[in-house]
Amino acid sequence: MIEFRQVTKRYDSDHTALRQVNFHLDRGELAFLTGHSGAGKSTLLKLLMVMERPSAGEVVVGGQVLNRLPRRQIPYIRRHIGVVFQNHQLLFDRTVFDNVAMPLEVMGVSPRDVGRRVRAALDKVGLLSKEKMNPLQLSGGEQQRVGIARAVVNKPPLLLADEPTGNLDPKLSADIMNLFAQFSQVGVTVLIASHDLALINEMGRRTLTLDHGNLIAGGKPLQGGSVG
Ligand code: ADP
Ligand code: ADP
Repeated sequence: MIEFRQVTKRYDSDHTALRQVNFHLDRGELAFLTGHSGAGKSTLLKLLMVMERPSAGEVVVGGQVLNRLPRRQIPYIRRHIGVVFQNHQLLFDRTVFDNVAMPLEVMGVSPRDVGRRVRAALDKVGLLSKEKMNPLQLSGGEQQRVGIARAVVNKPPLLLADEPTGNLDPKLSADIMNLFAQFSQVGVTVLIASHDLALINEMGRRTLTLDHGNLIAGGKPLQGGSVG
C-alpha cells in the first residue's frame, strides 16, 4: 500500500530531513511512526500527502509513484488519504454532521449519499446520537472521534494520523487507538505518528523509528513483486 524507496528529503543544503528511507506497509497494516522532535516524522507524512516532494528516491502509494504525479492529480490522490490531526481542525460554526460531511461536499457527492455516508462514519466512531450538536458541546475525546469520522467518511484506503492523542488522557487515547485498529481490520492501512511511547508499547504494533532523518527501526526488507 505504501512504499518508500531510498527516499531522501532535503529542505536546503544544511537540512536533510530524511535520509535514504526504505520501508513498506501492506494493506490493512497498522504501524506507528516515532522519533524525537525534528526526526522527520512530519516530513514523512507530508511526502505521503504530496505536500512535499522527495529530493531523491520514490514514494509509492497504492502502486502510484507520487514523485511523478502531475500537480493537477494531487487533489485526486488526497481523496484516497484520510488525515487525522492532533487538534482535529473541526469547524465550530457548524454541526458535527456538517463537519464530517465536508470532504464529501468538496467531491460533489449527492445529498442523499452524503447523509448515508456521514451517518455510517459517525456510527463507526460511536457518535451517531450527536450529529446535530456543535463540536464545542463535545468532550476532547469526542471531538477527536469526529475528526476521525471526517477522515474516514470517503473510505480512504490509507489513514494517516499526526499525534492524534496528543491532548487526550491515557484512557481516551487507548479508545482512539482501538478505533484505528478496527479500521485496519477492515483493510485500511494506518500510519500513526506519535511521541507517546507508553501507548505505543501497549499497542505492541510495528513501530518505525526515525532518528535525525534515518529510519533506525521498524523498516522491513523490501520484497519483490507488486505493491499496493
Ligand atoms: P511546491 O513545488 O510543492 O509548491 P514550494 O514552492 O512550496 O513547493 O517549495 C519548493 C521547495 O522548497 C519544496 O521542495 C519544499 O520542500 C522546499 N521548502 C518548503 N519550505 C521551505 C523552507 N521554509 N525552507 C527551505 N525549503 C523549503
Ligand atoms: P518531526 O515531525 O519529527 O518533528 P520534521 O519532519 O518536522 O520532524 O522535521 C525534520 C527536519 O526538517 C527538522 O530539522 C526540521 O527543522 C526540518 N524542516 C522541516 N520542515 C522544513 C522546512 N519547510 N524547511 C526547512 N527545514 C524544514
